Amino acid sequence: METWNELKDSQPKVVQLLQRSLEKDRLAHAYLFEGSKGTGKKQIAFQLAKSFLCKKNEGAEPCLVCADCKRIDHRNHPDVHIIEPEGLSIKKQQVEHLQKEFTYRGVESGKKVYIVDQADKMTASAANSLLKFLEEPTAPTLAVLMTERASSVLPTIQSRSQQLSFSPLPREKFIERLEKEGISRTLSTLIAGLTQSYEEAIALMESDWIAQARSVVIQLNEELYERPHQVFLTIQDKWIPTFKERRELELGLDMILLWLRDLLYTQVGKTDQLVFADQQTLLEQQALSSSQEKTSQSMSFVLEAKRHLSANVNPQLVMEKLFFSIQEG
Ligand SMILES: [Zn+2]
Repeated sequence: METWNELKDSQPKVVQLLQRSLEKDRLAHAYLFEGSKGTGKKQIAFQLAKSFLCKKNEGAEPCLVCADCKRIDHRNHPDVHIIEPEGLSIKKQQVEHLQKEFTYRGVESGKKVYIVDQADKMTASAANSLLKFLEEPTAPTLAVLMTERASSVLPTIQSRSQQLSFSPLPREKFIERLEKEGISRTLSTLIAGLTQSYEEAIALMESDWIAQARSVVIQLNEELYERPHQVFLTIQDKWIPTFKERRELELGLDMILLWLRDLLYTQVGKTDQLVFADQQTLLEQQALSSSQEKTSQSMSFVLEAKRHLSANVNPQLVMEKLFFSIQEG
């Protein structure tokens, strides 16, 4: 359970706007939340439901302890309804069913909240049915529609709702979010350095590929300084079998880039932001036997390797050339 002020760390603009509207008692009837997965749309939708229904709120903040707040947290508040696609779409019957249920059931607070997930999946008749209900409410009604792409939502819905865009989470929040999914700090930090997409992050977490890839990258960087003749063997025996797909190769090169950035940070004494934080001793050793200039140059070689890769140059060739260039400097 979080307060609006805590949620502000993740989505400052959206939260500030909603706080202000709540304080002035000027909420829109319908909001369209747009943003990629993992940006906190659902969390903020339920927070808004609490502020809307809590009777003990102070300004924008819901009390978080009353029966209304608790039931919303447990997702069983009778006046908060969640509509999600059944199969491929959200159908008219789903919306109608809900409206009937509202009519039959005794009125609890008089207020109603609809939270529509994947609003772009609403059929035109479902959308019309919902709009009609919003425009002729029997009680004060708030609708929060959520989508990853507002442009895929029917224009009638777009024009009748206030659109709020959710930005990707700030790095530290993103790492926290991944840690909540049960992934270690070490890997969360690495994944957050590689992608801003929550979906891709989850996909990366689901296999042990990322941990394996990370250890190959560390091994290569270690050998580069300590056993340079070994590097080309490792590329053949470990790199090539690990980084097979195009996306894996890109991620691999990005990991090398992150290592070099860590090295640069170490060289300038800025070690609180390291991605490979558990390798600090090794980074410090390397920092002593290299210069900032050489590290920056190595980074530009990696960027060049990325360009070669997207121009379809053979991956093994790309890697050999990269490490040759780094060694020759
Ligand atoms: Zn409350």
